[in-house]
Amino acid sequence: MIETWLHPTAAGLYCAAGDFFIDPHRPVDRAIVTHGHSDHARPGHGAVLATAETCRIVEVRHGSNATARLEAIALGERRRIGDCTVWLAPAGHILGSAQVVIEHKGCRAVVSGDYKRRLDPTCAPFEVVACDLFVTEATFGLPVFRHDSDDVAIGRLLDSLDANPDRTHLVGAYGLGKCQRMIALLRRAGYDRTIWLHGAMVELCALYGALGIDLGPLAPATAATGKLPGEIVIAPPSALKDRWARRFADPVTAFASGWMRVRGRARQNGVELPLVVSDHVDWPELVATIAETGAGEIWVTHGREQALLRQLTLMGLTGRALALVGRGGEDGESDGGADTAGDADSPPLDSALPGGGEVETP
Ligand SMILES: [Zn+2]
Ligand SMILES: [Zn+2]
Repeated sequence: MIETWLHPTAAGLYCAAGDFFIDPHRPVDRAIVTHGHSDHARPGHGAVLATAETCRIVEVRHGSNATARLEAIALGERRRIGDCTVWLAPAGHILGSAQVVIEHKGCRAVVSGDYKRRLDPTCAPFEVVACDLFVTEATFGLPVFRHDSDDVAIGRLLDSLDANPDRTHLVGAYGLGKCQRMIALLRRAGYDRTIWLHGAMVELCALYGALGIDLGPLAPATAATGKLPGEIVIAPPSALKDRWARRFADPVTAFASGWMRVRGRARQNGVELPLVVSDHVDWPELVATIAETGAGEIWVTHGREQALLRQLTLMGLTGRALALVGRGGEDGESDGGADTAGDADSPPLDSALPGGGEVETP
């Protein structure tokens, strides 16, 4: 019974065999942190074990003293902690993101944090790790959620630039992960012009550069002399409707998020150009990943778990909803697409549910 040595607590998922928490949302003595988003990496822990990239991100965001002891571990490096062996495998979600693999008494549990299966030039791709227990999120855990290829979104953005050379293209994207991925996808599509950044993006983009992710020519939007017609400016979603946005040339407002698949959500946010680019798996990828791990037992941390639990039963697997508190928010996808970063308390997006839903079909 894995439950005897790994279980949810008020502070988060706790491994009793090694006496540590995974992504705890309250300060604890020992934590393993899957990635740098604020709903997973909180300040105030005694000791944190994470990938080197996540350690750097945490230092930049929380300050170097927010965690008493920050220790980096390489992907795949085995570490004996208490009565178990722990190692990290790439999760493909953002730079530094990892799944936590825990082995104890011949059983293997994988806590995947947030993950995706699509190409992301800014991080190592998700690696399937065979296991007995797979712990997964279910942000897009409904069969209606099927994300288009990212090429579709990038193509729409570049087409709109061609069609509107006199307008600034103001792209809302979360500052850690999505912003850098959008830039990298644009570079892959051959866009080599300077990409302009809101001040809130500058430091994290520089950190990605320092960690070896080449994002091409970038400049702060405040450094521009004109109104940037025909240029791309990336800003936090909260800045799209801000005074700040008025400096640009008749901006086309775009927003990069998995939730842009829900028409009402784009409209509600005044988004003229919705770009479906997600850092989470869609439904087919979620179900396929679960099958690939070979796990007999699946725990669902947060998201829309009811449909997934039904699906697991159909697959002959044991499912359990953990309903971990404090999850969702930072990347603006796991919380239902609210337009303010770090808003972990946003209610789920009811309009995304079937019946009340208005999900775009391919
Ligand atoms: Zn995340
Ligand atoms: Zn998350």
